[in-house]
Amino acid sequence: MKIYKFGGASVKSADGVRNLANIVADTPEELFVVVSAMGKTTNALEKILDLFYDGMSAEAEAALDELVEYHFTITSDLWGWHYMPARAARFFDELREIVRESDPSLRSYEVWYDRVVSVGELVSTAIVSAYLEYDGLPNKWVDMRELFVTSHRHRDANIDMERSAERLCSLVARSEKRLFVGQGFIGATPEGVTTTIGREGSDYSAAVAGALLEAESVSIWKDVDGILNGDPKIFENTTLIPELSYMDAVELAHSGAQIIHPKTIKPLQNKSIPLHVKCFLDKTKPGSVIRDGVEVSPDIPIFILKRRQALLKVIPQDFSFMLEEKILNIFTHLSAYPIKINLIQSSAISLNLCIDDHDRYTDEIVATLREEGFDVSCEKGLEFLTVRGYDSETAHYYGNADGVILMQRSAKNLRIVKKVI
Ligand code: ASP
Ligand code: MG
Repeated sequence: MKIYKFGGASVKSADGVRNLANIVADTPEELFVVVSAMGKTTNALEKILDLFYDGMSAEAEAALDELVEYHFTITSDLWGWHYMPARAARFFDELREIVRESDPSLRSYEVWYDRVVSVGELVSTAIVSAYLEYDGLPNKWVDMRELFVTSHRHRDANIDMERSAERLCSLVARSEKRLFVGQGFIGATPEGVTTTIGREGSDYSAAVAGALLEAESVSIWKDVDGILNGDPKIFENTTLIPELSYMDAVELAHSGAQIIHPKTIKPLQNKSIPLHVKCFLDKTKPGSVIRDGVEVSPDIPIFILKRRQALLKVIPQDFSFMLEEKILNIFTHLSAYPIKINLIQSSAISLNLCIDDHDRYTDEIVATLREEGFDVSCEKGLEFLTVRGYDSETAHYYGNADGVILMQRSAKNLRIVKKVI
């Protein structure tokens, strides 16, 4: 069994879906294909959700019309006439009913989020599966909400590996098909309530499916040649890294390298399953592989930049020391939010935290910590730069650069919080 994961960019157009079909047709092994929502659909669904949640259901429906139209452009091109596979149409209809008739106050924002935003993946897989069938590739569409059992933490749910393994393995064993198409990013609680596992989480879905099915490999198909030593949209002169250890990969992903979701590596490392990052624009290119047995780190520095950062400076109002108890209190409160803490630095009476700035949560976190008896200042609009495997030249350059607010150095990593210059 092999696992392929196709992200939103790879299925954003009819050509993308045809290309996916070609790649699948070229794979003789039993195959589980994990697909994200098409193009920028998840963002569009987030907007629809916000309109609905703010009581603007007519506007939400208009935005939904636009999204349906976008999908129609793709399907009509694929089939050559105005057509939408019935299953995809049903998911859109259900969503329309929600925005038209449901009362947003009935459930929490997070629960609605998962219900609404998951439609992107349900629709994309319904289309991909139907198109593969049409193209002569018999396959089984699977609803990952019936296979991945998750925690109740909406928008950031954890997959229960044991319970999911049973369901996934028995489905594959029972099926006569050798090709499966399922959604990334989604699952359901044991009671069957839809959950999502965090933005860009489809890589993780693919990795979990790979680990549970003990796949021979997992491949993530992207619009870049493989893993580069920097995002080519941000950094110049980037170089391909052909091989990487799980350890280096996890550090890169955790620092914010967009190439793979941070949670992706662990399940694969645990079962020694190689992870390929391949280019869907040219399947003959070798790409990169993360696997067991890679002993040395790349001999070039790797640059990772995270934008939209906020730096919180937390000081006890009574000027007491920042000791374990205080730190525990702060982190207990932070753990209630689905946000990521990118850098932690403490001194006698203060704790600095660089976090992903979030429209809804950053101000709420600041308010909560103030209620807990801390003085909190918050600087927004910052960037967080990690240089893994830095050399003295890079360290010198960044150490003296304008706008640096905070810097941490370990043997391998240089980590900097800075203003946007
Ligand atoms: N569609 C989701 C997102 O855009 C999940 C994913 O693409 O991995 O965040
Ligand atoms: Mg995506």
